[in-house]
Amino acid sequence: MKLRDIKQSIGALGVKDLVRLDAWLHNLLEVRRADKRVRGATKQHEVLQSHRTARKTYRLELVRCGKGSCKCAEGKLHGPYWYAYWSEGGRTKSQYVGKRLPKGVKIARDVSARGVR
Ligand SMILES: [Zn+2]
Repeated sequence: MKLRDIKQSIGALGVKDLVRLDAWLHNLLEVRRADKRVRGATKQHEVLQSHRTARKTYRLELVRCGKGSCKCAEGKLHGPYWYAYWSEGGRTKSQYVGKRLPKGVKIARDVSARGVR
């Protein structure tokens, strides 16, 4: 079924059904997005430590590069390396930091490892 046909069918629905469809769609989107996030975060990266600063969250991670012939495919992951995560315009951004945290990064005392969002 093409999107055009689906739209045509939806156009014939009453308000009550449209509201239901709207809720269903939003729910579906949320589930799909959450799915993607979890898969991306857990398959390639293994989080060892997590430190939250005022602006960013730094995580020490072991990384799977994805090459089938690599040592990491058998469980010998690369790293650990630090990655920075922060929120920008409602989206989570990440950046490779390296083997050590940048000098300017102050680790807050009250921070503990949190689950991957
Ligand atoms: Zn590898």
